[in-house]
Amino acid sequence: MSTQTGSGHPPYSVQVGIPAAVLRAKRVRRRMDLTLWEKLYLMEIVRGLVVTSKHFFINMWGFIFPPAGKKRKVFTVYYPEEKLQLPPAYRGRPVLVAHTDGTEKCVACGLCEKMCPAHAISIVAAERAPGERYPLRYTLDLGRCVYCGYCEEVCPKEAIVMSDEYQGLAQRDRNALRFEKEQLLRPEGKVKTRLDYVRRIYSKWNY
Ligand code: SF4
Ligand code: SF4
Repeated sequence: MSTQTGSGHPPYSVQVGIPAAVLRAKRVRRRMDLTLWEKLYLMEIVRGLVVTSKHFFINMWGFIFPPAGKKRKVFTVYYPEEKLQLPPAYRGRPVLVAHTDGTEKCVACGLCEKMCPAHAISIVAAERAPGERYPLRYTLDLGRCVYCGYCEEVCPKEAIVMSDEYQGLAQRDRNALRFEKEQLLRPEGKVKTRLDYVRRIYSKWNY
């Protein structure tokens, strides 16, 4: 049986090339009534304790008796003494990229400010010389940022990128999450891995 579109178009299965039999919906029967034993939750509590205890003893055993050649068996990061090497796809704090002379690559075009769905960016533009724009102020409110990466994607100058920085993003005072241009500038070398990555993925999608 094929699904009809009802608009004169061929059936959906024909359009997408999936055999009609595969498209048949399966009825899922959900049993909503719990037995008295299930309502007591005793067994579930015991099962939860078993899982927790299992992980506890595996971790402890792996820590005390690490296999030969390994510091420890169980993968545990002792933050902040140890830090993870994050993959380039990770989207941490957005940062501004600086030229080698320390000036910002940003030309204050305002695209990122316009595109940001959380209204986290505000820019005050100025001119260094006639026609040479730069951000006099560039404020990023990380209390609003949702780390979507649109600012990075839309920037025509590769002037803002999602870094692998995650320290200091949890604060009690929201004002501490407002970052100014001077706090956001990073040398290009520091964000090179991410820049290479975005060049790769954006060219893949033919931007
Ligand atoms: S990552 Fe998204 S929410 Fe955060 S500043 Fe960029 S565009 Fe705005
Ligand atoms: S960071 Fe990029 S998109 Fe945003 S104002 Fe600067 S040049 Fe334009």
